[in-house]
Amino acid sequence: MSILVFIEQRDGRVRAVSREALGEATRLAAALGGPVVGVCPAATDPGLAALGEAGAERVLLAAHPAFAAYDAAGYARAVAVAAETLKPALVLFGASTMGRDLAPRVAARLGAGLASDCIALAVEGGRLVASRPVFAGKALQKVAFPKAPALATLRPKVFAPVALGGRSAAVEPLAVDFDAAASRAKVLRVAAAGAGKVDLTEAEVIVSGGRGMKGPEHFQLLEDLAAALGASVGASRAVVDAGWRPHSEQVGQTGKTVSPKLYVAVGISGAIQHLTGMTSSRCIVAINKDAEAPIFKVADYGIVGDLFEILPALTEAVGKLNAHA
Ligand SMILES: Cc1cc2nc3c(=O)[nH]c(=O)nc-3n(C[C@H](O)[C@H](O)[C@H](O)COP(=O)(O)OP(=O)(O)OC[C@H]3O[C@@H](n4cnc5c(N)ncnc54)[C@H](O)[C@@H]3O)c2cc1C
Repeated sequence: MSILVFIEQRDGRVRAVSREALGEATRLAAALGGPVVGVCPAATDPGLAALGEAGAERVLLAAHPAFAAYDAAGYARAVAVAAETLKPALVLFGASTMGRDLAPRVAARLGAGLASDCIALAVEGGRLVASRPVFAGKALQKVAFPKAPALATLRPKVFAPVALGGRSAAVEPLAVDFDAAASRAKVLRVAAAGAGKVDLTEAEVIVSGGRGMKGPEHFQLLEDLAAALGASVGASRAVVDAGWRPHSEQVGQTGKTVSPKLYVAVGISGAIQHLTGMTSSRCIVAINKDAEAPIFKVADYGIVGDLFEILPALTEAVGKLNAHA
C-alpha cells in the first residue's frame, strides 16, 4: 500500500512542510511498504520532479486554473480522487493553515479517521500510531486507526526532510472533474502579512516578546536581537490584544504553533496557552525578571533579570560573534 502526501504550493513554490511530510513518509514506507506518492493541486507544475530528492517516487499533478490559489472544495476533491485511485495506507498533510483546513474536508469525503497536529508517527505491531499533544500540550495522545486510509496532519518543523541526491519524481496528470463556478466559497485575495518576512511556522529562530516589553515602542530592542540572530519576531497574546503587535505574530493556543530550532521568550510569563504553541521548539531561552515565572519550567536556558538591560547586551554579543564568523 502506498503513502499519499499532499504537496502544498504557494505562488508556484512547494512549501517546506510538504518536504517534511515526504521525509516522514519515506521513513514510514520502510515499515508500511509501498511507494511514496505526492498529489499537488496547482495551476501549473511548481517543479514537482525535484521532489524525487525529497522522497516522492511519483507526484500526481491536478492542474486546474482555479487551483492557482487555495480552493477548499477543489483541493479536497483532488486529494480525495487521488486517495480513491491509489487506496493508500496513509495520507499526510502539513499542519499548516492550508493543511488544517483541507485535511478534515478530505477525511469527511473518504469517511476516514484524521489525527491532527501530530508530532510523531510510528508503526507498532503492524499498525500506524500517531502521537499528538492535547489539553494545551499538557498530555500526549496516541491515536490508532481502525481502517485505511489513516489521515494525519504533521506539525511543521518537527519532522526532518530527507535528501536523496539525484532522484527525480515521475510527474503524472490527475484528472479532476471540478467546476470552479459552482464552488460555494472563493478566495478573492491573499493578503500577505509583512512582505518578505519568514512565516513564523517556518522560522528556524524566533524571538518573542510579552507584556514585560512594557509598550510597542520597546519592540525595537527585540527587532534588533532578531536581526542579529536572523530570527522572526513573535508575540504573546497579551501584547497582540493590546494592539502592540499584529495577530500574525501571536504564538500559542489561539495563535500559531511553532517549532523553531531556537525560541527566545522575552518578558513572557509562560501561561499554558502560550506554552502550547512553542514547547516543541528544539531549544528554549527565557528572559524574565521573575525567577518563579512558569516559562522557566520549559526553558533550556534561563536568564533572570531586567530585559531592558539584557536585550542590548545580548544583541551586542551576537553582533560580535557574527563579526568573527
Ligand atoms: C482561551 C485563551 C486562549 C489564549 N491564547 C493565547 C495564545 O495563543 N498565546 C498567548 O501568548 N496567550 C494566550 N492566552 C493568554 C494567556 O493566558 C496569558 O494571559 C498571556 O500569554 C500572557 O502574556 P504575557 O506572558 O506576555 O504577559 P504576562 O503574563 O503579564 O507576563 C509578563 C512577564 O513579563 C515579565 N517582566 C515584566 N517586566 C520585565 C522586565 N523588565 N524584564 C524581564 N521580564 C519582565 C514578568 O515577570 C512576567 O512574567 C490565552 C488565554 C485564553 C483564556
